[in-house]
Amino acid sequence: MIVARFRPDVLIDEQSRLAAGWRHRGHRSFRCRVGHRTLVTFPDLAAASPEGERFLTVLRATRAVESVVDSAESPPLGSLAAVGEPTAVQVSEDWTVGGGRFTWIAGPCAVESQAQLTAVAGEVRAHGAQLLRGGAFKPRTSPYAFQGLGQEGLRLLAEASAATGLPVVTEVVDSAQVEAVAEVAQVLQIGARNAQNFALLREVALTGRPVLLKRGFGCTVQEWLHSAEYLLAAGNSQVLLCERGVRTFESATRFTLDISAVSLVKRLSHLPVLVDPSHACGRADLVAPLAAAAAVAGADGVMVDVHQDAHGALCDGQQAITPEEFGALVTRTSRILHSIDPTEPVADHAMAGR
Ligand code: PEP
Ligand code: MN
Repeated sequence: MIVARFRPDVLIDEQSRLAAGWRHRGHRSFRCRVGHRTLVTFPDLAAASPEGERFLTVLRATRAVESVVDSAESPPLGSLAAVGEPTAVQVSEDWTVGGGRFTWIAGPCAVESQAQLTAVAGEVRAHGAQLLRGGAFKPRTSPYAFQGLGQEGLRLLAEASAATGLPVVTEVVDSAQVEAVAEVAQVLQIGARNAQNFALLREVALTGRPVLLKRGFGCTVQEWLHSAEYLLAAGNSQVLLCERGVRTFESATRFTLDISAVSLVKRLSHLPVLVDPSHACGRADLVAPLAAAAAVAGADGVMVDVHQDAHGALCDGQQAITPEEFGALVTRTSRILHSIDPTEPVADHAMAGR
């Protein structure tokens, strides 16, 4: 698909005027601002067709257009080739996901109580997390399982965020909750089960908030990237992709973490890529090696389930690690990253242990 990049000095009015002209010639276009650039794509034009070739010549001669690519392997607005470099997503005043810094997101699978969340939020922060995770609305397989605290869970997340300064990532499972979740969460999570709920994707995109988009466990890489494209085509480029395991014939682990997808998507897409090893393997003892593997494969960060009392957890206790284990994981992974790339900073506690 053809995707062009406007020159940075081209104002929105001029972009709109050009888009109106293209539309007049019968070509729909979709625009998305990505960092300081604006991309525009023409979904109805195949670059290889005679009409596409004619239009490519027109585009290349348009002063407002800086570059044009035929994005064959990746959906256009998410295409790394179109932007030219990986992008980063600012999630709070002082933290950006991507851009070369490794991000740790940690917290309980579900918010269970004030005591649980306050304690674990403080612990994960002390052990190196930059964002707090925790589900208030839980998409459970069984209708009889704990469904999350809902609105009360959001209130507790807001409280924990205020106490620790950590921005919050929490899942939104229904269009009706988007507004309430956006009031509390700096990052809105779309879960694996909703990865192709296109109405919800559009709704969440319109908040303008960063979105953490899990890969559906039955989705191919292309389907996952197209889900992200729904967010981008709606004008929201603040997208974090998160690999969380796919369903395969293998039943020894909960899902199968698709490490190759991490390296592949880093080549196809400009968006940051995160990995959730906890939901992928469903076993606490595999979280650390899989997190390290994700980091080495090129992930921009990892999201892990952390709980002080895994046996008493109301959701996914079998895959939760303790705050201390989380600290050890941060240290070990940062040492591994530093050994591969000496410019990579070593976590403070790793330095202390030297
Ligand atoms: C979660 O992160 O809480 C979750 C439910 O994950 P997933 O959507 O990947 O199953
Ligand atoms: Mn879970």
